[in-house]
Amino acid sequence: MGLTEIRARISRACKAAGRAEDAVTLIAVSKVQPLERVEAVLEQGHRLFGENRVQEAAGKWPEFKARFDGVSVHLIGPLQTNKARQALGLFDAIHSLDRPKLAQTLARLAQEEGRCPDIFIEVNTGEETQKAGILPADADAFVAECRALDLPVVGLMCIPPVDETPSLHFALLAKLAERNGLKGLSMGMSADFEEAIALGATHVRVGSAIFGERQKT
Ligand SMILES: *Cc1c(COP(=O)(O)O)cnc(C)c1O
Repeated sequence: MGLTEIRARISRACKAAGRAEDAVTLIAVSKVQPLERVEAVLEQGHRLFGENRVQEAAGKWPEFKARFDGVSVHLIGPLQTNKARQALGLFDAIHSLDRPKLAQTLARLAQEEGRCPDIFIEVNTGEETQKAGILPADADAFVAECRALDLPVVGLMCIPPVDETPSLHFALLAKLAERNGLKGLSMGMSADFEEAIALGATHVRVGSAIFGERQKT
């Protein structure tokens, strides 16, 4: 695998779905990867990365951003409210807005700071008890609540249950986004990004297929 191969597969999937090639944004998920692998992908010209921990992102991205122009980093993992201010400074988008308390905190901090990253609302499409995210039945009301707080909500995000057909979850997320007038769909990872693209993904989050397997932590 690697970046070139994944880009080629994305454009094939776009073509097969009758979608424009630039309809899908590739987020290279660099969490836990050795820095030299991340640097190699930067050297290849890729500029958009995903991290799932604020602390880890703060430790690696300021330096890379100083060395490479035009780098963006998206938060794709859970955000604690006490790290929200730091997240506002580090990330260009947050894909994991998953509860009212965090929405209120982000809205207040965004007012104070005068800026806010793009926001994706995470939906727990599989209704898994251990997983973060708004339940599908609560999604419409939560989107409205976030809009009332003036948060720049651009789309929805999901992580399907590991043991289920991802397409069902991608289709549900697409339906929820559409009926709320949201264009962004953050869905699809190394194992299923082509199916996600077929169902309308605008942002795919691909880690191991680009960088290689992650070290177990
Ligand atoms: C780690 C992670 C990914 C990337 O997973 P791969 O299977 O390595 O592509 C995507 N999305 C989220 C939310 C993740 O935590």
